[in-house]
Amino acid sequence: MSARRDELAAGLAAVEERIERACRDAGRPREDVHLIVVTKFFPRSDLDLLADLGVTDIGENREQEASAKLADGGTPRGVRAHFIGQLQSKKAGAVSRWADVVHSVDRSKIVGALARGAHTAGRELTALIQVDLDPDPAGRRGGAQPADVPALAEEIVGSDSLRLGGLMAVAPLGGDPDEAFARLSALAQRLREDHPRADRISAGMSGDLEAAVRHGATHLRVGTAILGVRPSQR
Ligand SMILES: *Cc1c(COP(=O)(O)O)cnc(C)c1O
Repeated sequence: MSARRDELAAGLAAVEERIERACRDAGRPREDVHLIVVTKFFPRSDLDLLADLGVTDIGENREQEASAKLADGGTPRGVRAHFIGQLQSKKAGAVSRWADVVHSVDRSKIVGALARGAHTAGRELTALIQVDLDPDPAGRRGGAQPADVPALAEEIVGSDSLRLGGLMAVAPLGGDPDEAFARLSALAQRLREDHPRADRISAGMSGDLEAAVRHGATHLRVGTAILGVRPSQR
């Protein structure tokens, strides 16, 4: 597996260089931006190699796949697990057993299910509210409407097992990511007026991480640029 290790190391180095340059261009300190390596579709062995290469945060988007990869031997030591995919309420209990952060909270039913799951597991989860930035209903990829964010935030804050972390979004397909992330940044600022500690902005993927850094992203979710094209897409 040392060829794979070299491949992952090269991917990480290339992405690190992009993040450093984006931070420099935006006048932001590098340490304000956290990298989550999105490992969906890739095997457990890649997670172990990434952990060995110093990765501290991994992201998964399918409950069954992630539960299988992470239940067997647990999350690699020192690595935080982020759930970034669309979540059904009946899967929330399973996710709350291994996830440290859930980025895709977009409705009341999910808040309740995650809160119960985390409470039962005796864990505290950080919850980010996913916001839908797509003006076209046909293009929607999950997420709460911006007007629904304040009420969801109150629900999260009111639960004893969830901590409100901030906002997450995916730039609409075919749209201008700068425009989308500028809107996200404004929504995040509004959220912080009521919840000053909810200061995370999860935005930016392989194709648009520079735009996300320009607009204040604190957590980037990068898969392809580090691990290569996902197996099911080859
Ligand atoms: C898969 C995924 C990513 C990573 O996308 P890449 O283009 O491979 O970097 C980021 N965020 C979400 C929500 C995803 O599902």
